[in-house]
Amino acid sequence: MRQRKPLVVANWKMNGDQCLAHQVSDSLAALSGSLPDILICPPVIFLPNFPKHPHYSLGAQNLSEQAAGAFTGEISAVMLAQAGASHVIVGHSERRTLFGETNQQVTKKVEQALDAGLKPILCIGETASQRSEEKTFQVLAEQLDAVYSAQPQWLEASVVAYEPLWAIGTGNTATPEQAQQVHAFIRQHLTQYSADAAAALRILYGGSVNAGNSEALFAQADVDGALIGGASLNAAEFAAICLSA
Ligand code: PEP
Repeated sequence: MRQRKPLVVANWKMNGDQCLAHQVSDSLAALSGSLPDILICPPVIFLPNFPKHPHYSLGAQNLSEQAAGAFTGEISAVMLAQAGASHVIVGHSERRTLFGETNQQVTKKVEQALDAGLKPILCIGETASQRSEEKTFQVLAEQLDAVYSAQPQWLEASVVAYEPLWAIGTGNTATPEQAQQVHAFIRQHLTQYSADAAAALRILYGGSVNAGNSEALFAQADVDGALIGGASLNAAEFAAICLSA
């Protein structure tokens, strides 16, 4: 019996269209049996294209670190909540590396999300060179502490996604043992803030998850689901991944 209900998240990034929204919602609605929690994070413009359905919830991929004001092009947490989002991905490695998001900005975004009643999915991960220099745990601890050291109570409403940069979009999935080792470290590290919240926290794995490798990853004790990029753009494959959780 699993301690935590698995959560499977689709991160479409800047991909997809209205047609894919219908395909994904139809294929998820058709599933039966015991399902994980399923969250779809399409580009926000497509949120209205998903009819409400008990098999899935909706989320966003990013949010503004500001509450409101003259910030052209930005979307606030409150707006996302009004558009139907229950969760928001924060600090995805593409935001950190391509858009220069710092740990400080990530922390502000987590705060905005929680203030608006959205659950943040905090993404953390090391680069290939950090891993080969054996700095993985140090990098992850810094990314976690930047957010939770001042506000340990934020952990209760959070989800954490471990996404090694060397695995995202590369086809180089972490082995189930590698994922388990890091997830166990993350959970242990967070017990300093709250043992109960760390035990209840859902820690997702992200990085080239597909229908062929998901079951072995989900079988690990501390892998509580996945954040899925490329494979979430195929409605049938995403549904198969959900069924394997
Ligand atoms: C991601 O971008 O969060 C991700 C895990 O992508 P992919 O599944 O394509 O590696």
